[in-house]
Amino acid sequence: MEENYEDKYELVIGLEIHAQLSTQSKIFAPEANQFGKQPNTQISAIGLAHPGTLPRLNAEVVAYAIKMGLACGCEIASYSVFDRKNYFYPDLPKGYQISQDKYPICKGGTIKIKGTGAQAREIKLHHIHLEEDAGKSIHVEGEDYTQLDFNRAGTPLIEIVTEPDMHHAEEATQLFQEIRRMVRYLEICDGNMEEGSLRCDANISVRRHGAEQLGTRVEVKNMNSVRNLKKAIEYEFQRQCALVEAGQTFTQETRSFEPETGKTFSLRSKETLNDYRYFPDPDLPPVWVTDKWREEIKAKMPLLPEDWRKKLMQQYGLSDYNAELLTEEKETVLLFEAVAQHTSAYKDIANWLNGEVKAWQNETNQHIKNLPVSAQKLAELINLIAQNKISRGLASTQIFPLLLDDVAKSISDIIQEKGLSKEDDSQKLKDIIQEVLEAMPDKVKAFKTGKKGLQALFMGQIMKKTAGKADPKITAKLLQEALEEVRY
Ligand code: ADP
Ligand code: MG
Repeated sequence: MEENYEDKYELVIGLEIHAQLSTQSKIFAPEANQFGKQPNTQISAIGLAHPGTLPRLNAEVVAYAIKMGLACGCEIASYSVFDRKNYFYPDLPKGYQISQDKYPICKGGTIKIKGTGAQAREIKLHHIHLEEDAGKSIHVEGEDYTQLDFNRAGTPLIEIVTEPDMHHAEEATQLFQEIRRMVRYLEICDGNMEEGSLRCDANISVRRHGAEQLGTRVEVKNMNSVRNLKKAIEYEFQRQCALVEAGQTFTQETRSFEPETGKTFSLRSKETLNDYRYFPDPDLPPVWVTDKWREEIKAKMPLLPEDWRKKLMQQYGLSDYNAELLTEEKETVLLFEAVAQHTSAYKDIANWLNGEVKAWQNETNQHIKNLPVSAQKLAELINLIAQNKISRGLASTQIFPLLLDDVAKSISDIIQEKGLSKEDDSQKLKDIIQEVLEAMPDKVKAFKTGKKGLQALFMGQIMKKTAGKADPKITAKLLQEALEEVRY
């Protein structure tokens, strides 16, 4: 039974988001950083921490973290330190993970989201730190053994840690989605949740409205989709409120989300939480980020989703709604700009990209970067419609599908072959209108004596005679004039 606890309790959420950085090589070793390779082919003695090996920091990884930090308005630490986080797990061959604890690479910062009310919200970040990913345990169904794949070990990660600053499941999902867009726009992570490139843990607590102290938090892991993140938070809110209502206290614990049931269950309680015994890694010197390096990275920052949304609204006059849809993927907004080089019908570009192009993406499950129709052709199509040479409807149902089918096809060929050009010769159209009216004198008389609804019948006949090619607006105008001229 879902109870309505919202009036009494406030939900508090803090997220910890891991993003795998898409650098060429791993964070402390030279092997390739690629997903989906044969198990245990992408690992070296360094990643496995064989005696006598030493880690060496990949500078590109630091640059990627700085990019994200700058995008979030963080303070970029001039001095940061790598620590060893000690714990035992079979997929962690070293017995420790190299991470950052006291001195992370980025501090503070905010990320703007739409929020749930009228006002946008700026969610506060605590810090962003660098670390290495662990290997992967593959639990074989029905067998009494576990397989280990170390390819992932040493994959560079940033962990973005927010303040406990969100109060609705919707805010948490918005933040997560904005982070996914940001890392993709920055081209530092592919944002693929299914492959685990972007992962999220949610810390959730409840407290009475107005209370100053935070409630006991629960950390929920294993939500591999935005939908599950939302469900897990909603479930936890209900569960924790019910416990508090019943006067029960509970301890800090780690829970796992189970998609099949929509519930969370306890993995381990605080008593059994690891003591990581962090200490600075003696094999790695501190990281110094000079002002010069930071400024060089800053100078090369691309536009972020938020910048693009502003640009689409201010420079191209698009609605908030269209700007949001178009910025969901970087390639879409880049295509928008490419089309806008050839036509100034900006609203129409948005409609095509959010309409026909999106439909093609959904139907074919293809990424927009594989769209077979070039920006020039899309612009040509939009211009031909604006100039009244072809109808919007036929462009969508007849021309666009053919352009999708054959990259080499030109629009003018299709128009010629299919005879899709609009009847824009108004004398010809006038003659057809006359023909139609003369064939139905009694209907015309009825129209003249007040049956205005008959106009639709005349329009239908004209359209039939022109095989739908007549421009409806022009036809309606000419028909009106012709009907006015008829005298009885
Ligand atoms: P730890 O050091 O145990 O990892 P942190 O203080 O670093 O704990 O917090 C980790 C995450 O949990 C952060 O995202 C933070 O915002 C969030 N968090 C901390 N306390 C609470 C709370 N009471 N309710 C919800 N989230 C919390
Ligand atoms: Mg922490």
